[in-house]
Amino acid sequence: MRTSQYLIATLRETPADAEIASHQLMLRAGLIRKLASGMYTWLPAGLRVLQKVSQIVREEMNRAAAMEVSMPVVQSAELWQESGRWDQMGPELLRFKDRHERDFCLGPTHEEVITDLVRNEFNSYKQLPVNFYQIQMKFRDERRPRFGVMRAREFLMKDAYSFHINESSLAQTYELMYQTYSNIFQRLGLDFRAVLADTGNIGGSTSHEFHVLADSGEDEIVFSSDSDYAANIELADGILSDADFSCDDTAEALEEVATGDARSIEDVANLLAADKRSLVKTLVIKAETSEANPKGLMVLVLRGDQELNPVKAEKLPGVLSPMTMATDEEIFAALGAKPGSLGPCDLQGVPVVADKSAASLRNFICGANRDGYHLRNANWDRDASYEQVFDLRKVREGDGSPDGKGTLSIKRGIEVGHIFQLGTKYSQAMNASVLDENGKSVMMNMGCYGIGVSRIVAAAIEQNHDENGIIWPDAIAPFQVAIVPLNAHKSESVMPVSEELKSALEAAGIDVILDDRDRKTSPGVKFADMELMGIPHRLVVSERGLENDQIEYKARGASDPELLPRNEVVEILK
Ligand code: ATP
Ligand code: MG
Ligand code: MG
Ligand code: MG
Repeated sequence: MRTSQYLIATLRETPADAEIASHQLMLRAGLIRKLASGMYTWLPAGLRVLQKVSQIVREEMNRAAAMEVSMPVVQSAELWQESGRWDQMGPELLRFKDRHERDFCLGPTHEEVITDLVRNEFNSYKQLPVNFYQIQMKFRDERRPRFGVMRAREFLMKDAYSFHINESSLAQTYELMYQTYSNIFQRLGLDFRAVLADTGNIGGSTSHEFHVLADSGEDEIVFSSDSDYAANIELADGILSDADFSCDDTAEALEEVATGDARSIEDVANLLAADKRSLVKTLVIKAETSEANPKGLMVLVLRGDQELNPVKAEKLPGVLSPMTMATDEEIFAALGAKPGSLGPCDLQGVPVVADKSAASLRNFICGANRDGYHLRNANWDRDASYEQVFDLRKVREGDGSPDGKGTLSIKRGIEVGHIFQLGTKYSQAMNASVLDENGKSVMMNMGCYGIGVSRIVAAAIEQNHDENGIIWPDAIAPFQVAIVPLNAHKSESVMPVSEELKSALEAAGIDVILDDRDRKTSPGVKFADMELMGIPHRLVVSERGLENDQIEYKARGASDPELLPRNEVVEILK
């Protein structure tokens, strides 16, 4: 590829509405452009990265004998009514009618569609197990799309669905997918952790998430230094585990109130009242700072079945310190308030996991996790002892029990993959059965496996960037090598040698971009563009270098360039 024939849409200024590094850099490097809230156009360089990620995912899924299919984005309401999710899903499911007034939705996930396919195509245990996948745009009407493609409304997902005659066959494929995911994230060159996870509104029993570690992550994960124990801290909470999309709505609406965004407190009260599952919720949110509350953090204690009675932070009688020592009753007493009211609290330096009061701890953690966005601003970082988290985990029975080894670290993560053992949840609801070896009809066991393909692009940048821009891992760089000819207009040989290098590298299977923009674009601008775009290897061809048969080479992360013998360049970069 040549820059003269390519869209180099780099920006010098940091776009004002982009809060985290990956969002800023994806705009600045000319990878994406926003069309509307949570909807993005992928520009040529961005699409190359997205396709490279997709291809790695595809190769590893194929290796695991999964079969690629493509299902419709638009789905009919009948299927969702059959599974029961038409009523369970909140406004995150985008619904609409066709010209015949029939109900449809845009697919946020495809359990119903694939179950419908499989119940029609398969009738015998002999045809199982099977695993189908697709790489396709999903639509979720997220209340608060943010961070660019990280939390978009339209986004690319790899979703896979497996079907089995019994639980042990499901467990085998689940294990294979776990391994496949580990291979994928390794090939992508990312620092990741697999953690025990909640099954949320997708349902089922066993579930793991794959997280890319990054301070900007919206989730908190906890893992042991000395054992395999690793979990999403969400799992420690018994209430949010039952939360579904509508609980997310509530939490995010509250955040809007706290940050002075659109929604009124009355709207939140209505949302809470409508949300039957939310019996108790605690959220840590940002409030006005005052002498009593210097960090400007506030804990909201909410009862879904009570009227909300908002009280401004400065009107409250005292500061609760430390928060984690308090029970719900103590919080209410100290606030001089009833359940359902709002209160401030000072979190200065309080380790979150500090006492034995499981209930308040649980509420606290659930709030902290829900509102990681604000806690991030509060410089949140901590470690907890094993016993402390063990205590926490007791709040949810049947979770199995960590082994008590080592110290647990709590880190922020970006959820890039999620695998589930669904059991017979969908097959039962939708009557998807096959005949077993005795000719008896049995419901199929099912697993489902998602990867946020477009989110991975942003997550990779969160993990790999510096003040000059993106630093792509080789495997997903839009181009692996940038060739910058220096003062080509003054030289007979610089351009021909650059072209020659380009062809030789391309013949070796390397993606190359040759910066052949004319001298109106200075070398400094060319270097800055290639660094911003994160091209991992840069070659500079100059008259002076050629006099000594040398090409200047610089790895994107390195501080200084080095000189390579001209005839060894291709061999070295291969
Ligand atoms: P989150 O907790 O971030 O909302 P989720 O648990 O709702 O994600 P899943 O239903 O598990 O998401 O979907 C599988 C994968 O799709 C996720 O692991 C994530 O990587 C990706 N994903 C989910 N929602 C979005 C989104 N709004 N934008 C981009 N990627 C997403
Ligand atoms: Mg979600
Ligand atoms: Mg999640
Ligand atoms: Mg998930």
